[in-house]
Amino acid sequence: MGADGSRSHCRFQIPEANRKWYFHEYPFAWFGILAQAPRSSDELIYANSANGFALISQRTETVQRMYFQCDPKENVADWDDERIWSEFRKRVNGNGFELKEGPVLEKMVLPFRSFVHTPMRHGNLFLAGDAAHTVPPTGAKGLNLALHDVKVLFEGLESFYSNGSNGLLESYSDRALERVWKAQHFSYWMTSMLHTAPGSDDFGRARQLGELHSVVSSRHARAYLAESYTGWPTGK
Ligand SMILES: Cc1cc2nc3c(=O)[nH]c(=O)nc-3n(C[C@H](O)[C@H](O)[C@H](O)COP(=O)(O)OP(=O)(O)OC[C@H]3O[C@@H](n4cnc5c(N)ncnc54)[C@H](O)[C@@H]3O)c2cc1C
Repeated sequence: MGADGSRSHCRFQIPEANRKWYFHEYPFAWFGILAQAPRSSDELIYANSANGFALISQRTETVQRMYFQCDPKENVADWDDERIWSEFRKRVNGNGFELKEGPVLEKMVLPFRSFVHTPMRHGNLFLAGDAAHTVPPTGAKGLNLALHDVKVLFEGLESFYSNGSNGLLESYSDRALERVWKAQHFSYWMTSMLHTAPGSDDFGRARQLGELHSVVSSRHARAYLAESYTGWPTGK
């Protein structure tokens, strides 16, 4: 089993002629911080602002993790606490909401991309998790996909060792990839809907707000987002 993460060595064991890689690069990254601060909200906050995307997530009563969209070449050394909080304020404060601030404990730039390695099986080598696919973090699907791969592989191994049937092992890659591509689409969609593309024109910005209004004003669109975010049913 090759489950050695996004810098996988295992996937290079599959001959080039037997694999296909799918890539998508994004023109932005996340500037992430861990801050000593109280919770600002009970729920995650995803913000699409005229100044770019921000995500406020909660960790404990006293430590929070937050991100804002940045240039992939951004240097964390250029950002002191005041500059960081000022960027967050521009993106999330307003309409009566005010972010709770505190000392920044950690800061990092997280570039991301979409990647899929196919097939996820070569002979007796089974790839799982980030070794086979990565998604932008916007949809929070990476770890969930890795766990689903393991579930599908477990079913194949269980079937093989309990009754000698290798049908589920043979179909491992196809079954895992079906969910991978759904998650790729969802992660791409969330990313493009919530981030500001560099060079985006007035039409692009207004269309994006139209897209957001379409989602929040439609019960069906909200249900699609919620179902995709929390994960689809699993089955054999
Ligand atoms: C900032 C950030 C936020 C995220 N948020 C979310 C989220 O909210 N929800 C979500 O679902 N996902 C999230 N993810 C993605 C998630 O962390 C990954 O998709 C997930 O960890 C992938 O699991 P994995 O086991 O495939 O790979 P990894 O977690 O990378 O584990 C691979 C393991 O293999 C080991 N390894 C590598 N090479 C070797 C070797 N040669 N020999 C032995 N061991 C080796 C590594 O040390 C590592 O322990 C986030 C990722 C980031 C970066």
